[in-house]
Amino acid sequence: MTQQLNTLLNRRHFLKASVWATAGGVLAGCTRRPAQAYTAPPPVSGNDAAGALTLPDLPYAYDALEPTIDARTMEIHHSRHHAAYTNNVTRTLEAHPNLAAQPLESLLVDIPALPADLQATVRNNGGGHWNHELFWDSMHPDGGGQPGGELGRQLEATFGDFESFQSQFNQAALTQFGSGWAWLIVTADDQLAVTATPNQDNPLMHGLVPKTGRPILGIDVWEHAYYLNYQNRRGDYVEAWWDVVNWPHVAELYAAARALKA
Ligand code: MN
Repeated sequence: MTQQLNTLLNRRHFLKASVWATAGGVLAGCTRRPAQAYTAPPPVSGNDAAGALTLPDLPYAYDALEPTIDARTMEIHHSRHHAAYTNNVTRTLEAHPNLAAQPLESLLVDIPALPADLQATVRNNGGGHWNHELFWDSMHPDGGGQPGGELGRQLEATFGDFESFQSQFNQAALTQFGSGWAWLIVTADDQLAVTATPNQDNPLMHGLVPKTGRPILGIDVWEHAYYLNYQNRRGDYVEAWWDVVNWPHVAELYAAARALKA
């Protein structure tokens, strides 16, 4: 990944992180419509522009994560599955310019406030778009290892040691029945936590998920993420996935999330 692309990706997620203030208000029990308090950041990529969700290019080639994830799986996952989520939510919001004008994340944090006939599409396809953007950036061909710095210290402080964190995360990924995700999140009270969600739900979705917070790392455990290579062996996929985790990026998301709440 070029430095320029790195900077762009980090900037994109940093701007996304600015929704924290809104989500924090909801977590604190504030019931106002989050979107009303949201100040849109200047568009950096298509994904930040009003009504213009776009399928992002992967920050690496389809075969870059081999042997952990094979090229064919990556190609279908990105160009078919992610593209379908993006297209579906875009098409639905086209008829609602007032909602399309808001960043997707401001819709995801308060889906119950949306018109009833839009909730399922925004939840499933909007969630799918947001989740996959995080997922691609969570990985890198030079990934793996363990995070240092503040994230490494806080993982140890929270879970005891890095291996205990991994074990809890693996357990969340393995016990998510059917399709879904496992996450490392930063909660509203500034704690790291592991959680899992079904389908394309994510921990931003207040009122819909048991544990809310800002995801800084996520693994897709839908079968489409691993079945061609691993078939039913989800555990082997999850175990291998640690070799491609992009810890510098996760650390930047962690720092950004905390800075915005300070
Ligand atoms: Mn997926």
